Amino acid sequence: MRNLIALFACSCVALSASAANEPAAAAAARLAASVSRPASAMVPSATTKKAEPAEKKAEPKAEPAVSATAASEEDAEVELSAKIAQRLAALRERQQARATAAARAKKLADAKRRQDEQAAAAAAAIAAAPKHGTVWSYEGESGPANWSKINADWAKCGTGNRQSPIDLRDGIKVNLEQISFDYHPSSFSEVNNGHTIQVTVGGGNFITVGNTVYELQEFHFHRPSEEKINGKGTEMVIHLVHKSAEGKIAIVAVLLERGQPHRLMQTIWDNLPLEKFDTVAPSIVLDPTDALPERRDYFTYMGSLTEPPCTEGVLWMVFKQPMQASPAQMALFSRLYPLNARPVQPTAGRMVKESN
Ligand SMILES: [Zn+2]
Repeated sequence: MRNLIALFACSCVALSASAANEPAAAAAARLAASVSRPASAMVPSATTKKAEPAEKKAEPKAEPAVSATAASEEDAEVELSAKIAQRLAALRERQQARATAAARAKKLADAKRRQDEQAAAAAAAIAAAPKHGTVWSYEGESGPANWSKINADWAKCGTGNRQSPIDLRDGIKVNLEQISFDYHPSSFSEVNNGHTIQVTVGGGNFITVGNTVYELQEFHFHRPSEEKINGKGTEMVIHLVHKSAEGKIAIVAVLLERGQPHRLMQTIWDNLPLEKFDTVAPSIVLDPTDALPERRDYFTYMGSLTEPPCTEGVLWMVFKQPMQASPAQMALFSRLYPLNARPVQPTAGRMVKESN
């Protein structure tokens, strides 16, 4: 009997130790105690019942008491062996279940970790990839604050420190040379390009500033005016975009306020394309001179394109005198483009000059 208990205790210690759920010595003591109890004090009732009739039967046959006691002890031992075996089996089963559960949990954790790693790698790849978006606007997700993030080539929109438009103030008053305009009635085409109405003018229209000749490429409209003078803007502005033979850009800005109808604007409105991105080329001519105010005093500073890619090195000339356009002409444009103006950018210490 003692041998069995010792064997059981050893097995249990081994199982407990491998499960590592409690200290091996403590587990051995607990298990040995639990097995010893039924062996000595709690002899199962079934054994007792079985033993009693044997004793009763033994009386008439007058068999020796010693042999009856030996038989009963043997029965108890057999039963105890069975119990021990049962307990061991149960322990093994529990241990197996724990091991299976632990393996399942590890497998799930590994799968989750792999999934997280893959997601992180994909996000990093997206963040690192050069962006080539082409869609931009004046509001929301694709608005001016995010232009630089849409396309890698538009970085200047975010990082540039010579950006346009600006608030024109504290200009240095000097005798600025007059801009020499050499404009003529010209063929033209116009397009609603999704950002503005743009008018492309036939060749042969030039300006000369500082010994550099620039040719008029196109002009377009913004609402409200992008540039401000001493913090104040106007309802609209025309930008006349010129390019030199070396590729330098010079833009002339003409502010528009409410008043009399604007002749040039009416010609353009009369020929508006019906659909966005359709180009209309009327069989008439327009004279870009009609886009210029009478007085030619101006502000000048170095800035950028006011839309992506926000290229810098642009010579800006903003006429001080605004022109007028009728409320109906303004209303027509605002139906197409209620807001197509980039906010003013930091001047960042740039020099602004203005005509005396
Ligand atoms: Zn513009």
